[in-house]
Amino acid sequence: MDSPVTILPGVGPKRAQTIKKLGLETVRDVLFSFPRDYKDFQRVHLVHEVKSGQEQLVTGKLINLHERPISGGRRVVQAQLDGYLTLTWFVHHRNRGPSYLYRNLQKAQEIWVYGLVKDDYGGLEMTTPEFFYEAPMHLGLMPVYPLMSTVTNAQRVRWVKESLKYLSHLDECLPPSLRGDYVDRHTALRWMHFPKNWSEQQSARERLVYEEFLLFHLSLQRGARHTPGVMHGPDGQLVARYLKSLPFQLTNGQRNALQDVAKDMESPLAMRRLIQGEVGSGKTIVAEYGAVKAVENGGQVAMMVPTEVLARQMAQRIKSALEPLGITVELLIGNLPGKEQTRVREGIQDGSIQVVVGTHALITEKVLFANLTLAIVDEQHRFGVRQRLALQGKGNADLLVMSATPIPRSLALTAYGDLDTSEIRELPKGRQVVDTRLIDPKRRTEVYQYLVKRVKSGEQGYVVFPLVEESEHLDAKAAVTEMEALQHGVLKEIRVGLIHGQMGKEKEQIFEAFYRQEIDVLIATTVIEVGMNVPNATVMIIENAERFGLAQLHQLRGRVGRGSKPGICFLLSYSDSRQSRERLEVIRGSTDGFLIAEEDLRIRGPGDLLGVRQWGMPLFRVGDIVEDQDMLKSTAAEAQALLDEDPNLVKYPQLLAEIERQQW
Ligand code: ADP
Ligand code: MG
Repeated sequence: MDSPVTILPGVGPKRAQTIKKLGLETVRDVLFSFPRDYKDFQRVHLVHEVKSGQEQLVTGKLINLHERPISGGRRVVQAQLDGYLTLTWFVHHRNRGPSYLYRNLQKAQEIWVYGLVKDDYGGLEMTTPEFFYEAPMHLGLMPVYPLMSTVTNAQRVRWVKESLKYLSHLDECLPPSLRGDYVDRHTALRWMHFPKNWSEQQSARERLVYEEFLLFHLSLQRGARHTPGVMHGPDGQLVARYLKSLPFQLTNGQRNALQDVAKDMESPLAMRRLIQGEVGSGKTIVAEYGAVKAVENGGQVAMMVPTEVLARQMAQRIKSALEPLGITVELLIGNLPGKEQTRVREGIQDGSIQVVVGTHALITEKVLFANLTLAIVDEQHRFGVRQRLALQGKGNADLLVMSATPIPRSLALTAYGDLDTSEIRELPKGRQVVDTRLIDPKRRTEVYQYLVKRVKSGEQGYVVFPLVEESEHLDAKAAVTEMEALQHGVLKEIRVGLIHGQMGKEKEQIFEAFYRQEIDVLIATTVIEVGMNVPNATVMIIENAERFGLAQLHQLRGRVGRGSKPGICFLLSYSDSRQSRERLEVIRGSTDGFLIAEEDLRIRGPGDLLGVRQWGMPLFRVGDIVEDQDMLKSTAAEAQALLDEDPNLVKYPQLLAEIERQQW
């Protein structure tokens, strides 16, 4: 199973390199990369049996075959199958004389075509059908694999067929007690790739979803079993001084979260706690409290955030809060001068640095802690399970995870199934709600003029465009062009910074400049969504708002009005659809991130990956976290029961081996 794909006929070293991008490195990979769809070759239809609106395989004789040129050096080839179903193909053919397709079709006695049958003013037709000069070898559902320009579907089909020959080397990972009525693993794989009918496909899929979710929960929960950890003492002088230093009263949510953290840190088992709360709900206070408590007990604290800009901001903030208490705080990011890097690492190793804030740089091998007892991960959805475990593993540390992305409750189990949760549901008193307005694009100029006015009075703002991915055909404003148009148009009198996905290090510099108020307006794709804290920013304009997830929009608008002046957010929507209107109304009318997340899920429905990604969910191979929610829940319970009975899975070596192979 772990043999490289090069053992398959037709796959040489070069090809192996290309298909690595599809995630195909071993025979196992080929077997576990599933079709994204199927073609229905279950039955060969005769022309009088075809139905419009369906994809079908049809056979017959070609009548009235003809060809004519159209524009651009192309030809249309047309015929009637048995005089009844019109077939149309388009071919490139610049030479005189009949095209290759036309000549071949002329020779065909009988033909099999596959495609969508449409009713065109009373006549049935099929445009650019696939065709065969012989009856297909076997009937059933034909797999359609995710595409890649240099690999054809036929090639993938061949590789899968070859890989299936090695199936005897693949273990059944589910013991009979768990397998129950599900089909066995070998059958499931055969049927998933080449089902004879939909019922085989369904049985195969069910089994594979079950396996995938169960393995996921087992690995998540196995890591989540509370292992022995550091037992911190009760709050002492230092914590008291910290709490007294706060210039405000804690909210109820904060107070409860603090209690949860205290209880966990004082317990002999390692803490595994998630603090969920809106942007601005004051999660950082909880982190600081934990940090002071750890230091008071002679421990060290590491706090990991997703980007260098955020690390700098956070380090500054933690410094100003904790240094007055005599706690040493330092920053560790990849982008520090070598000397500084070494100094900080040494300080961490000899224990003279008590709190370190940083990026992924914290989990590199070179970083060794004298006595790490609290690991904090901020904006958790940017980090995988493995990364947070890596940080925690730098000591025998308690783990505190913070997230500002509320996710629908029904999905929380998947993302955070391994963590105990504290929610901070209210914002501190007096916090202004961001005034959110849906704006007709006709009033676009007005909105920008308003932004200019606010900037001239000393405030800052954001303009946000949806990220344009190459693969998307949507008519979104092409961010870069639009950004430049703004820069040289309405916004030409003000200092503007441009940020988009393809930028590297410059991006961080622009963020810094905005932070230092050397830039007035940041024009960006969604890269600003996480943790950006510039209190002077008050206006946000979101272009093509209909293309964002609601959770994203909610996070985005949380960037403005963080200081003393109220924030305003304009949503420009270029879509008239009722659904998109309904969605934007939700965001306009509510400030409750949890409610927004639930609504987002309800309106978007299953299979919508944008939503799934915004919540930072793992991407499964077969299972759909929305459609297969029930399975997701039941497997969580099964995993728990299994681990209760056998925490190290000694009775299930195959299952264990499979868990360790997964990459969650
Ligand atoms: P989060 O990390 O959850 O987005 P922060 O911890 O950054 O939120 O807090 C946002 C702002 O609110 C900070 O300026 C913080 O000092 C302030 N703040 C936190 N808790 C309170 C409170 N209970 N009352 C008033 N202001 C608070
Ligand atoms: Mg925060």
